[in-house]
Amino acid sequence: MAAKPDARPVVIISRRGADRIRAGHVWVYRSDIVEAKDVQPGALVTVQELSDKNVRPTRPLPGTNVRPARPPRTLGTAFYSTASQIALRMISLHPVGDVDQLLRERIRDAIAYRERFVENTNAYRVVFSEGDLLPGLIVDRYNDILSMQVLTQAMDLDHIRSGVVSELKEKLQPAAIVEKVDVRVRQLEQLPYKESGLIFGQKTSTEFQMNGVRFLYEALGGQKTGAFLDQRENYAAAEKYARGEALDVFCYQGGFGLHLARTCEKVTGVDSSLPALEIAEKNAQLNGREIEWIEANAFDLLRDYSDQGKKYDCIVLDPPAFAKSKRDLATALRGYKELNLRALKMLRPGGILVTCSCSYHVSASDLLEVVASAAQDLHRIVRILENRGQSKDHPTVLGIPETAYLKCLLAIVS
Ligand code: SAH
Repeated sequence: MAAKPDARPVVIISRRGADRIRAGHVWVYRSDIVEAKDVQPGALVTVQELSDKNVRPTRPLPGTNVRPARPPRTLGTAFYSTASQIALRMISLHPVGDVDQLLRERIRDAIAYRERFVENTNAYRVVFSEGDLLPGLIVDRYNDILSMQVLTQAMDLDHIRSGVVSELKEKLQPAAIVEKVDVRVRQLEQLPYKESGLIFGQKTSTEFQMNGVRFLYEALGGQKTGAFLDQRENYAAAEKYARGEALDVFCYQGGFGLHLARTCEKVTGVDSSLPALEIAEKNAQLNGREIEWIEANAFDLLRDYSDQGKKYDCIVLDPPAFAKSKRDLATALRGYKELNLRALKMLRPGGILVTCSCSYHVSASDLLEVVASAAQDLHRIVRILENRGQSKDHPTVLGIPETAYLKCLLAIVS
């Protein structure tokens, strides 16, 4: 039985916290919590703003000098975490009766959104946490296998998990659902240790396609795979402009490279992870493509190749997030500059640069500035063909800047 809304614990937050919510965000940091008495991990709570009589006094009662206390302003309903610095994640600006029902509706909405906007793939993000108003839940679909990640105390509660799983089963009819555990996140949320594993069905490997390119998927075990689904639409964009000789730097299991192989004469993929390259090769075989894979540190390889005067017609740079926090920004920008400088040096006139950053702390204009300054150093002219972000199955919600993190610039270099 769902508790009555008025029986819910109340958490009182500061004006600063409330202002963030009014601006469209859904997080309240612990430093903005004024009162949260005996609230259980993952509890559904009513969120109220601290009433501050000095800020906006109420009107005096007619004919008197008495100003009644301002009633606390209720901001909505949220999940509470006793451990995270993000103490509250709003799930509604209204009272919520049956939370299980609400989450089922959100999952149905998320699926309907994908049916409407996601094309030419059977692999995509079905639920993108805050981006789908389901904070703390990520679900990816790889053909007939779903991979689910639980990131908060609330989403880990038994009744929530079982509602989520049953809705996913009913609507998507997967052969299996696998839970992918992020051990560090569970530690931070003070959730008990748990290993990745099947939570429904038996199947743990399958094949999926993105834009008609085939990929292997292995959910568990040593040869784990997966994909950067957020780049899917950028693969198609890169493929459209690329030709000649292409270099896919930070290639992982071949996402860009396999697409480029359809329009380029020769493709080379570079990554420091041998297991990733082994799967990249299997993916290449699956598609009947010949691609050269090189295990190397990208920084060393780019330095050596550019010093040797090697040239390409298309270079993709898709490094891991260099700026994990704001503090790393300056170092991260130096890293991006180095990579882009080397790539520009190696591009033939008319060559295509595809340069990405998945660091939330590096803004789109930061990345543009990095490329501009590299171009200036080398006296190259760079024209932006497309200034892209993440695929539409990773929706960006206005008011929640953290839901936008991926930048992908496509440019022609003369
Ligand atoms: N472009 C890929 C995703 C890249 S993820 C795709 O679309 O699927 C980042 C990759 O960078 C990982 O595969 C990781 O192994 C690799 N990597 C991290 N540091 C590296 C380094 N210094 N040199 C080369 N590869 C590196």
